[in-house]
Amino acid sequence: MTLRHNGPMARYSYSRLETYASCPLKYKFQYLDRVKVDVGPSVEAFLGSRVHDALEWLYGQVQLGLVPTLDEVLARYGEAWDAEWTDRVRIVRQGVTADTYRRLGEKCLRLYFRRHAPFAEGLVLGLEEPFSLDLGEGIELTGYIDRLTKHDGDVYEVHDYKTSGNLPTPEEAARDVQAGLYALAVRARFPHAREVRLVWHYLRFDERLVTSRSEVELAELRADTVRRVREVERATEFPPQESALCAWCEYFGICPAKGHRLVLAELPPSRHRGEPGVALVDRLAALKRELRETSARLEGEIAVVEEALVAYAREHGFAVVVGTEVEATVVDDEVLALPGSGDPERVELEDRLRRLGLWEACATVSLDKVKKLVRDGDLPEAARAEILALARVEPRVTIRLRRRRPAE
Ligand code: SF4
Repeated sequence: MTLRHNGPMARYSYSRLETYASCPLKYKFQYLDRVKVDVGPSVEAFLGSRVHDALEWLYGQVQLGLVPTLDEVLARYGEAWDAEWTDRVRIVRQGVTADTYRRLGEKCLRLYFRRHAPFAEGLVLGLEEPFSLDLGEGIELTGYIDRLTKHDGDVYEVHDYKTSGNLPTPEEAARDVQAGLYALAVRARFPHAREVRLVWHYLRFDERLVTSRSEVELAELRADTVRRVREVERATEFPPQESALCAWCEYFGICPAKGHRLVLAELPPSRHRGEPGVALVDRLAALKRELRETSARLEGEIAVVEEALVAYAREHGFAVVVGTEVEATVVDDEVLALPGSGDPERVELEDRLRRLGLWEACATVSLDKVKKLVRDGDLPEAARAEILALARVEPRVTIRLRRRRPAE
C-alpha cells in the first residue's frame, strides 16, 4: 500500500543506508550532524576514484567515436593520480605504500582494457549517471550509475566498477542490494525495458558478475528499503558499532568508542596498568569474576546442605527443622511442570489455552517485546504514538565487559 505523503521527500542513497547499518554513530556524524573532520580519504577510496575517473574518460572518448590506447588510459590515470595525491590520503594497512596502490590501479585498468577493448558493447547512455527514484511514501532514493548502456532488443545494462579486494560469490552477487536498487531505478526510467542486466566488474580479479532481478525480487527490495528508511528515521539512539571497518573511519579520532584506545596508544605499554581507566576496568572484571566463582561455589554448597536437610527431615518425619535464628520448613509434595518456552509442546499448550478461552486470563505482556515492536517493528505511526504516549524516558547507564579488541 502506498501512503499519501504531503511533506518534503526524504532523500536516501544506498551508501547512506549502509552507513547506518554498519555503524549508527558514524551515520549520525556524517548525515545528521554533518561533522567536518580534517581527515583525507583512505588510499582505497582514492584508488577507486582514480580508476573510476580513468574509465569514465575512456568511455567518454568512446562516445566521441574514439578508442584510446592502453598507454593513453594509463597516462591519464597516472596524471590524475599525481595531480590529486596529497599527504592527507590515509594508508591504513601495514607494509604497503602509495605506490603499491598506484600499481594496483594500473593492473585493474590493464586487465579491464585487455578484456573489453575496443569497448564496442552496447550504446553508452550515461557515465557517472545520476538517478533519483521515488520509492513511494515520501522517500527518494538517489545514486550514480558508473555506466549505463543500451543493447539490442531493449536490454539495458548497469555497469559498476569495484576495486575492492573482495570477490563475492555468484549467490552474493544475486542478492547484492546496491545492484537491486540500481535495477529498480533503471526499470522506473525505462519502463519498456525487456531486461535490465547488472554487470559488476571486479577489476582486481578480472571478473564480471552479471545478475538480474525478477519483478517479485524488486518489489520485495522496494518494500525492504522503505522499511530500512523508516527504521533510520525512527532511531533516537546512535550507538557506535565497532568493526574491522573502524580503521578506515574518518571519525575515528572523535569516536567515543575509540577515545580511550587513543589515550593508551600515546602511553608505553608498561604504563597501561597504572592508567585510571584501565585500573577501573581491571578491578570491575576481577570483582565480577570473583562474584561468579563465589556464587557457583555457594550454589554447590547449598545444594549439598539442602539434600542433607531433606534426608534428615524425612528420616525423622519432621516438617520443620529449627536452627539458632531461623527455621526451615521442608515440604515434600509434587508440582505441576508445564512445557517451557523452548519445549516442543509449548505451542500446543498455547493453542489449547486460546481454544478454551483462557488465553487472556493467563497471558502476560512482555515489555521487552513491546519495546522491540515500537523500536523495530512495522507498526503504523498512530499505533506507535499511542504506545509511546504511556512511556517515559529514563536515564540509564549500562556497563558491559567484553574481551578486548585487538590493537587498532
Ligand atoms: S570509529 Fe568505528 S565505532 Fe566509531 S564511528 Fe567510526 S565506524 Fe563507528
